[in-house]
Amino acid sequence: MNLNTLEELSMKQRIIYEIFNKNPLSIFSIQEITTKIDEENKKISKRTIYRALEKLINIKKIYCNDFYKGMRYFQLVENNYCFMVCKKCKQKKCIPLNKEKIKYDQEKFKIKGMGITLYGICKNCKTKSS
Ligand SMILES: [Zn+2]
Repeated sequence: MNLNTLEELSMKQRIIYEIFNKNPLSIFSIQEITTKIDEENKKISKRTIYRALEKLINIKKIYCNDFYKGMRYFQLVENNYCFMVCKKCKQKKCIPLNKEKIKYDQEKFKIKGMGITLYGICKNCKTKSS
Protein backbone atom coordinates (compact mmCIF):
# COMPACT_ATOMS: atom_id res chain seq x y z
CA MET A 1 0.00 0.00 0.00
CA ASN A 2 1.31 3.37 -0.95
CA LEU A 3 0.87 5.70 1.97
CA ASN A 4 1.82 8.73 -0.02
CA THR A 5 -1.36 8.92 -2.03
CA LEU A 6 -4.19 11.34 -1.77
CA GLU A 7 -6.74 8.66 -2.55
CA GLU A 8 -7.10 7.61 1.03
CA LEU A 9 -8.15 11.09 2.12
CA SER A 10 -11.71 11.65 3.17
CA MET A 11 -13.73 14.39 1.51
CA LYS A 12 -13.09 16.83 4.35
CA GLN A 13 -9.39 16.03 4.45
CA ARG A 14 -9.26 16.70 0.75
CA ILE A 15 -10.93 20.10 1.19
CA ILE A 16 -8.21 21.03 3.64
CA TYR A 17 -5.50 19.74 1.36
CA GLU A 18 -6.96 21.85 -1.45
CA ILE A 19 -6.57 24.97 0.67
CA PHE A 20 -2.83 24.34 0.68
CA ASN A 21 -2.79 23.28 -2.93
CA LYS A 22 -4.50 26.46 -4.10
CA ASN A 23 -2.12 28.62 -2.10
CA PRO A 24 1.17 26.84 -2.61
CA LEU A 25 3.33 29.56 -1.14
CA SER A 26 1.15 30.31 1.86
CA ILE A 27 1.74 29.29 5.38
CA PHE A 28 -1.33 28.78 7.54
CA SER A 29 -2.01 28.81 11.21
CA ILE A 30 -4.92 26.73 12.46
CA GLN A 31 -6.91 29.96 12.74
CA GLU A 32 -6.23 30.89 9.12
CA ILE A 33 -7.27 27.45 7.93
CA THR A 34 -10.51 27.71 9.92
CA THR A 35 -11.21 31.12 8.37
CA LYS A 36 -10.61 29.77 4.85
CA ILE A 37 -13.04 26.93 5.46
CA ASP A 38 -15.66 29.37 6.76
CA GLU A 39 -15.16 31.59 3.71
CA GLU A 40 -15.92 28.65 1.47
CA ASN A 41 -18.99 27.86 3.56
CA LYS A 42 -17.73 24.41 4.34
CA LYS A 43 -18.69 23.08 7.72
CA ILE A 44 -15.75 21.31 9.27
CA SER A 45 -15.25 21.06 13.01
CA LYS A 46 -11.98 22.11 14.61
CA ARG A 47 -11.43 18.55 15.71
CA THR A 48 -11.73 17.33 12.14
CA ILE A 49 -9.36 20.03 10.96
CA TYR A 50 -6.75 18.94 13.49
CA ARG A 51 -7.19 15.33 12.48
CA ALA A 52 -6.95 16.22 8.79
CA LEU A 53 -3.75 18.18 9.36
CA GLU A 54 -2.28 15.26 11.26
CA LYS A 55 -3.21 12.96 8.42
CA LEU A 56 -1.69 15.28 5.81
CA ILE A 57 1.50 15.46 7.85
CA ASN A 58 1.56 11.66 8.09
CA ILE A 59 1.32 11.20 4.34
CA LYS A 60 3.93 13.96 3.97
CA LYS A 61 1.77 16.38 2.01
CA ILE A 62 2.16 19.20 4.45
CA TYR A 63 4.47 19.84 7.31
CA CYS A 64 4.27 21.69 10.52
CA ASN A 65 6.66 24.50 11.21
CA ASP A 66 7.09 25.38 14.84
CA PHE A 67 7.41 28.92 13.92
CA TYR A 68 7.58 31.57 16.54
CA LYS A 69 6.93 31.29 20.26
CA GLY A 70 5.25 27.94 19.87
CA MET A 71 2.77 29.07 17.22
CA ARG A 72 2.27 26.27 14.76
CA TYR A 73 2.11 26.93 11.05
CA PHE A 74 1.42 24.53 8.24
CA GLN A 75 2.89 24.49 4.78
CA LEU A 76 2.79 22.40 1.63
CA VAL A 77 5.76 20.02 1.42
CA GLU A 78 6.38 20.21 -2.34
CA ASN A 79 7.73 23.68 -2.05
CA ASN A 80 11.08 25.24 -2.05
CA TYR A 81 10.82 28.37 -0.09
CA CYS A 82 12.41 30.61 2.41
CA PHE A 83 10.60 32.31 5.26
CA MET A 84 11.45 35.68 6.64
CA VAL A 85 9.98 36.38 10.04
CA CYS A 86 10.10 39.70 11.83
CA LYS A 87 10.94 39.20 15.47
CA LYS A 88 9.00 42.29 16.52
CA CYS A 89 5.68 42.21 14.67
CA LYS A 90 5.87 38.53 13.66
CA GLN A 91 5.08 39.44 10.09
CA LYS A 92 5.96 36.51 7.88
CA LYS A 93 7.03 36.57 4.30
CA CYS A 94 7.53 33.66 1.98
CA ILE A 95 10.12 33.81 -0.74
CA PRO A 96 10.34 31.02 -3.28
CA LEU A 97 13.80 29.66 -3.99
CA ASN A 98 14.84 28.86 -7.49
CA LYS A 99 15.39 25.11 -7.90
CA GLU A 100 17.91 25.60 -10.68
CA LYS A 101 20.11 27.56 -8.37
CA ILE A 102 20.47 24.65 -6.01
CA LYS A 103 23.04 22.21 -7.24
CA TYR A 104 22.41 18.67 -6.26
CA ASP A 105 22.87 15.20 -7.59
CA GLN A 106 19.44 13.70 -8.24
CA GLU A 107 20.87 10.18 -8.08
CA LYS A 108 22.22 10.54 -4.60
CA PHE A 109 19.86 13.01 -3.14
CA LYS A 110 16.32 13.70 -4.21
CA ILE A 111 15.04 16.96 -2.83
CA LYS A 112 11.38 16.68 -1.90
CA GLY A 113 11.02 20.08 -0.42
CA MET A 114 12.73 22.34 2.00
CA GLY A 115 12.32 25.27 4.24
CA ILE A 116 14.58 27.85 5.69
CA THR A 117 13.47 30.35 8.27
CA LEU A 118 15.28 33.61 8.67
CA TYR A 119 14.55 35.78 11.67
CA GLY A 120 15.09 39.49 11.63
CA ILE A 121 13.49 42.90 11.80
CA CYS A 122 11.18 44.06 9.01
CA LYS A 123 11.35 47.43 7.31
CA ASN A 124 8.38 48.83 9.28
CA CYS A 125 9.78 47.91 12.66
CA LYS A 126 13.22 49.15 11.73
CA THR A 127 11.80 52.55 10.79
CA LYS A 128 9.83 52.74 14.04
CA SER A 129 12.80 52.00 16.30
CA SER A 130 15.26 54.37 14.67
ZN1 LIG B 1 8.17 43.95 11.97
